[in-house]
Formats: sequence, C-alpha cells, structure tokens
Amino acid sequence: MTHRRRPESTWRWDQDQQALVDGTVSDEPKPRASQYQRLLNHLQYLELNTAAEHLKAELDLGQRTKASATQVLERLLAHQVMAAHQRRLAVRIPTSQLPVGKTLENFDFDFQPSIDRQLVGELSTLRFIEEKRNVILVGPPGVGKTHLAVALGVRAAAAGYRVYFSTAADMVASLQAANEDGSLGRKQRSYYIGPPLLIIDELGYLPLDRASVTWVYHVISKRYEKGSIILTSNRGFGEWVEIFSEAVAATAIVDRLLHNAVVLNIRGRSYRMRGFRTGPDGALPGSLTTSADNRAAVKPQDARKGLPEYSTTYPNDGPRGPEGGGARVR
Ligand code: ADP
Ligand code: MG
Repeated sequence: MTHRRRPESTWRWDQDQQALVDGTVSDEPKPRASQYQRLLNHLQYLELNTAAEHLKAELDLGQRTKASATQVLERLLAHQVMAAHQRRLAVRIPTSQLPVGKTLENFDFDFQPSIDRQLVGELSTLRFIEEKRNVILVGPPGVGKTHLAVALGVRAAAAGYRVYFSTAADMVASLQAANEDGSLGRKQRSYYIGPPLLIIDELGYLPLDRASVTWVYHVISKRYEKGSIILTSNRGFGEWVEIFSEAVAATAIVDRLLHNAVVLNIRGRSYRMRGFRTGPDGALPGSLTTSADNRAAVKPQDARKGLPEYSTTYPNDGPRGPEGGGARVR
C-alpha cells in the first residue's frame, strides 16, 4: 500500500483511520474537522467513551460558569473514572460471592450500640488489608456479624481488592472436593489464598471433624501475615476447642488468627427479632431464647479465656495499659 502525501491542511484523523481500514487514501480534500470534533474523536479512539458522552455538556457548563480548563478536564475525566469504578465493581462483586444489599450505609448502628462505630470507620479505610491483619466478629446470632463482614468486603471490592466470601462449611467442602479432583492449587489461588481479603462466615455453627479442621488450619496458616481474613463466629474463642474437636488444632488456629487481629465482640439483640419484645437485658423472653444465644453471649473476659495474650491492638487504640495488650475485644 502506498500513501501519497497530501497537504497538511487536508489531514483528517478519522479519514486516515478509514484509509488504514480500507487500504486507500482519498485524494478528495476534506474540510478540517472542528477542534470539538477532533477532541471527541480522540476520546473515542482512546475508548474514553463516557468522557466522550459528557464532552458537550461539560464544555457548555464550563463556558457558562467560566470554569478553568483544569476544572473542565477534571470534571470530564471524573465521569470516566466513575464509569471505570462501576464497571470494576460490577465484575468484582459477583465473582467475590458477596451477598447483595449489605453495606455500611444501610447498617443501623443505633440499633447495636455495643459496636464501636469509630473502629468500624477505621476498618472501612481498609488499612487492615494493607497491613494483612484479620478482623474477627464474634457475637450471638442476628447481631449483624455477617452484614458488617460483607459491608467491609463490598468496600474492599469497590476499592479494587480481590475479595472472596464463603461460609466456613462451604470453604471446607470446596477445598476437599478440589483436593480430590486435582484443582486444589487453582482453587487456592483464585479463592482461598490468592485474594487479599477472604471472608469466612459462620465458623462454629457446626462442629468440624478432624479433616475439616485441617482445611481450616491450612487456609489460616497459608494466609498468615500474607492476606487478611474477616471471620464471623457465634462462639467465643474459649469454645473453639469444641468447634475444632481438639485443643491443639484450636490453639494453633486461634493463635494465627488472632495475632494482630481486630476483634469486635458484638453484644446485643438480634436484628431479626427486633419486632419482638425483649427482657431488660435484651434477651428474648422465655422459650424464644435459644441455647445458641446463651452460648454465644461472650463476655470480653471469656473471649480470651485460656488463650495467650496477643501483642496487638489497632492503631488509634491509645496508650497500651494492662488492658491494652491483648487482641482488641469489644
Ligand atoms: P449474624 O451474622 O450476626 O447472625 P446478620 O448479619 O446475618 O447477623 O443479620 C441478620 C439480618 O439482619 C441480616 O439481614 C442483616 O442485614 C440484618 N441486620 C443485622 N443487624 C443490622 C443492623 N444493625 N442494621 C441493619 N440491618 C441489620
Ligand atoms: Mg451470620
């Protein structure tokens, strides 16, 4: 293909593109595209289509408000950035298996005053992911453990982190199956070890057999100081020996999990039961009080019973007194 040189004034970006596609160059002199048209073409060529769609409106607005070129450009690119953000979210959320509709915005903190809003606010900055720290949410059923775990996961996905959500039981079953069909490596990379944030929901709802405990230990030790875990449990740490059916495994798991962890111990009423009248201590009257509720009503001291002290607190915890040395328990 030979290109004949044309006078500079007849050059048209879109025509050259066409010529490249067709393999021809027209000799017809064409009027030069307007500056606006060329700008539009540039945006479309760079696939900044959202910015292209908003170009006219933003230029008009800029003219009306006598905005500077910097302001117009910033506003125009903000549309593109927002679209990219939404697209990323649309991909990340479904692959993360995060349940929908649970966000920090629709969590009613007034309903659950035992939750430290400031601490949740701190967690929502996602620094814990950068620091590869774990977040443990402990408390009775219905107090919002899963909701908060998911809401933090949504924040992380929105910020571009790879996140994976699974119940403890599904995680164990999935790893066991992957081990049998030879896809363990891929499964670990994609879901349980690879993502910077793994959410393990409902540890302790059912006791785990020895093989299952091994898988839980496997994930927790592989992620140790490499990636964050948000874990929810309706059982206090003192009861984990029961969940893991043997003390050695329980200690090894809790040891790694709690090292540098942020622990939110939620005490309060079940949100699911908010329509029911409750007793003075927030407990449901008589037969409606479940044994799980009682078991999980973990007092802060109980949560650490029988466990070593952990050398951590979250930044902003203030001075570390005798109470400040352990994993943060609320
Ligand atoms: P848990 O995991 O502690 O058993 P969930 O997070 O599953 O409890 O909460 C039960 C239901 O109540 C969910 O639908 C959740 O979205 C909702 N919920 C719980 N606490 C709150 C709250 N404080 N504000 C709004 N919704 C809540
Ligand atoms: Mg839950």
